[in-house]
Amino acid sequence: ALTASGLTLGYGPLTVVHDADLSVGAGRVRALVGPNGSGKSTLLRAMARLHATTAGSLRLVGADADGGSDIDCAALSAREFATRLAMLTQQRPTPAGMSVREVVALGRHPHRSRFLGTDAHGPAAIERALHLTGIADLADRKVDELSGGQTQRVWLASCLAQETGVLLLDEPTNHLDLRYQSELLDLIRDLADDHGVAVGVVLHDLNQAAAVADDVTLLVDGRVVASGTPAAVLTEARLSAAYGVGIEVR
Ligand code: ATP
Ligand code: MG
Repeated sequence: ALTASGLTLGYGPLTVVHDADLSVGAGRVRALVGPNGSGKSTLLRAMARLHATTAGSLRLVGADADGGSDIDCAALSAREFATRLAMLTQQRPTPAGMSVREVVALGRHPHRSRFLGTDAHGPAAIERALHLTGIADLADRKVDELSGGQTQRVWLASCLAQETGVLLLDEPTNHLDLRYQSELLDLIRDLADDHGVAVGVVLHDLNQAAAVADDVTLLVDGRVVASGTPAAVLTEARLSAAYGVGIEVR
């Protein structure tokens, strides 16, 4: 599990996430929801160590930490951290000239240090990721020739090839057609249920969040205003206060 406590951060003098607690348990899916600009991406990026924090701590606990003890993430090298946590960021570049398989193979980079020797498991992990995301037939195509949804799946495959215990996904359903949205949600559930992965996922569709997540965190103006089961968090009263419009989650 990945546990963030009291995370505070922002951009220059502007603080956009205030004292946030967020925990993503092993074998569980936590949805992070909230209006545009509420700080979801900023918070998730901080949990992936892609953004410096001004206060708070980030710990890996249990199996993710090896041997069942806690690890302060600040004590891990970037490479060690990347063998434990992968993040699909909201901005997904389309690297010119690279093939799909080459981009997916980037996920193996943390496993390929000169101290660890060759990454014997790499080719199998890459093929598995290509299949799980339904892009095996695109493997030799150039990424800059793909559609938005296909590019999105390539980056997701790269995260899966990383084979980490914690997976953070920022709006992974973006650009996906309805079939792939539903396949992606099934895949997220399988990763948690069958592989014990701790999944933290930003979703705008609150019905999708209620369907896939064990736990939900609602962020408003950079503050966690509710955290708990979907039924407890996604109430009509709380959502209309957060979004300023009436929303009912089925
Ligand atoms: P969305 O649903 O639109 O993706 P979000 O909840 O992910 O929104 P963030 O992207 O985390 O929100 O942004 C939170 C706040 O931080 C916003 O007010 C935004 O304007 C601000 N912000 C984001 N990126 C930067 C930046 N690079 N420099 C300055 N301010 C930023
Ligand atoms: Mg965002």
